[in-house]
Amino acid sequence: MSSSPAAAARQILISLQEVMASRTSAQAKLNKVVEIIGESLSSEVCSIYLVRDGVLELFATRGLKQEAVHVTRMSKGEGLVGLIATNVETLNLDEAASHPDFSYRPETGEDRFHSFAGVPIVRRERALGVLCVQHVEPRKYEEVEIEALQTVAMVLSELIANAELADEGATDMRVQETGANVMNGLQLVMGMARGHVVFHQPRIHIEHTVAEDTEAERQRVISAFGKMREQIDRMTGTAEFGVDGGEHQEVLETYKMFAYDEGWTRRINEAIDSGLTAEAAIERVQQRTRMRMRQIDDPLLQDRMHDLEDLANRLLRIVSGQLGTAAQLGLRQDAILIARNLGPAELLEYDRRRLKGVILEEGSLTAHVTIVARAMGVPVLGRVRDIRHRVNEGDLILMDVGSNVVLIRPTPDMDEAFENRLTINQKRRAEFTAMRDLPSVTQDGARVELMVNAGLRDDAQALDLVGADGIGLFRTEFQFLVSATLPQREKQQRLYKDVLDAAGDRPVIFRTVDIGGDKALPYMRQDEEEEEDNPAMGWRALRLALDRDGLMKAQARALLEAAAGKILHVMFPMVSEPWEYEEARALVEKQRAWLAGQKKKLPVAVRYGAMLEVPALAEVLDLLLPRVDFLSIGTNDLTQFLFAADRSNPRLAERYDWLSIAILRFLDRVIRACEAHGVPVGVCGEMGGRTLEAMALVGLGIRRLSITPASVGPVKAMIRSVDAGALQTEMRALLDSGATDIRGQLTQWAEAQGIELN
Ligand code: PEP
Ligand code: MG
Repeated sequence: MSSSPAAAARQILISLQEVMASRTSAQAKLNKVVEIIGESLSSEVCSIYLVRDGVLELFATRGLKQEAVHVTRMSKGEGLVGLIATNVETLNLDEAASHPDFSYRPETGEDRFHSFAGVPIVRRERALGVLCVQHVEPRKYEEVEIEALQTVAMVLSELIANAELADEGATDMRVQETGANVMNGLQLVMGMARGHVVFHQPRIHIEHTVAEDTEAERQRVISAFGKMREQIDRMTGTAEFGVDGGEHQEVLETYKMFAYDEGWTRRINEAIDSGLTAEAAIERVQQRTRMRMRQIDDPLLQDRMHDLEDLANRLLRIVSGQLGTAAQLGLRQDAILIARNLGPAELLEYDRRRLKGVILEEGSLTAHVTIVARAMGVPVLGRVRDIRHRVNEGDLILMDVGSNVVLIRPTPDMDEAFENRLTINQKRRAEFTAMRDLPSVTQDGARVELMVNAGLRDDAQALDLVGADGIGLFRTEFQFLVSATLPQREKQQRLYKDVLDAAGDRPVIFRTVDIGGDKALPYMRQDEEEEEDNPAMGWRALRLALDRDGLMKAQARALLEAAAGKILHVMFPMVSEPWEYEEARALVEKQRAWLAGQKKKLPVAVRYGAMLEVPALAEVLDLLLPRVDFLSIGTNDLTQFLFAADRSNPRLAERYDWLSIAILRFLDRVIRACEAHGVPVGVCGEMGGRTLEAMALVGLGIRRLSITPASVGPVKAMIRSVDAGALQTEMRALLDSGATDIRGQLTQWAEAQGIELN
């Protein structure tokens, strides 16, 4: 074999290309291929095994007995060939028979051969088969030869896939081996979905692996690297990369490191020298890195590997010109979207009717994409580690966020069981829909207002769909988060007016923008913000709005003008001290006076509310309550502050219970204070959307809940089945007794009373 690995590989590739272009059967091509490779590597034996019906079958050989072709079959993990396919790794042995996994097959007549080298034929990170060479003389193959084999295997994988010679998809030997077709994650948006895998960034289909003009391929790679580096440099501070700060910043640094890594560029260039196209060279280097990394069991390095994968994919997209996301390329029916992470605007690009669910490798409860997905009614499971490498485009997936599982490529039994649950679920939903016009009144006649949380223009439609009493929390920051630039006042006004029109007589409580901190706006980042260690407790919401009052003034005017002739409800987020509320209210009032001076048509009344999210505010309710028209308790933020437990930290997600005595006593005090001042109080956090928690809140005296639309049905069913008087007595007893397991006791009580908790 030639001393230059590149020249040797190129020589083989040129011959292979001729074979591939020839008009013969796939089998004839494979027969030719083993001849060429065996010849070039001066190996007595060269064989190709492919996975068919889940088993590795000898498809072509030079040197072994021809009678063995299509006869010798190895199950997964069996023999050296099985080992290579299962572990997707290379083996290079001077004495094959002494390897513990060696399995002798007499029909092949291989006993004469001592040395053995085999490489997996990989496609989409899975082994489609194995290419191996054997030698009489007991010597290890040289690194140069192994490299050539790997390059050839890469080219072969295209040939095999195109001719559909091997199983695809189902040949996931590695995944099946570990039985890992059930995965778990973090519950982000509840729901069930059945659909097929769609990658947000579609995998690149490499059409040509063998280069016609090596120099031209090199230029393509150089130019793609240039573009990629530009993108990475630009990415800091742009919306494309999400707006979550911390975690992403780290990823970005890693991206930068890889994008400028000399070693990476060099290896790709070497692969081009060996005769591959730019695309194939990038993929070839990626495969080699994957194989190496697989042998290192270090989670930190695995993460870095994912970063490198992302970047390699980006490079592939640039070089191949296949740039669009799945949304831009047209989404298939019943899609389950798979992504590392998504920005809210990216999610909004998808056709809601086709998108059934989203699975993210990252993601957190407070990420905007989660809030937007909830508004779109799309179930989301987050933190599903490595999902992108466990599934193929088009794979069937069942997701049940409530049970915290994703079933990948389910068996027909699993699918049937899931379908049953889905049907029951849909039936329930239909029952809830049927209840939509029934009043939300308890058995003993107490009326509990059920409103919905919203943030998108179309959300107002949910009011009719579920039969809600209004919008109890309109998160105005959504519009800001999904825009590439700061939404102009006119644009804001149009949105508010559309929402008010759609709501008709029902109230809409607009919350002024809750941005800053972890909801940073990309277009505000550069000049106005500094990194914060604790963004949730940082310069956000009303704090930012009062300091930069231009934003708030514009929003106040947009709201006032949009609500002309109607009652306007405005609510301020994250009020920590009464003066902040006062100042915010005064700001709106000033705009109102100014508009009046301009003879503009105004709202018939403005009702002001504060959100209680910061525990300190609870200590000064006597000062605040006389000034407000209503109070809304934001239990998402409130509980994270009460327990000092970051609401987006998955490790703490289940640690503290909304039904803990601390939270309930706290809420009880706040509700008593509101009653004493005659101020209506509601709850607008996620807590109120769960039936048992909602029941506890009603037991504390809450008569207004603002919840996610999907929860209106179940919560209404609960309300209609409960006796509020009895419930309040029970809650009082539980709080006074200092019970530790309130969840358990309330559940028991509800069951005994026949309350519908769904
Ligand atoms: C809350 O904190 O409970 C709340 C409703 O506001 P958000 O979830 O938007 O922070
Ligand atoms: Mg909040």
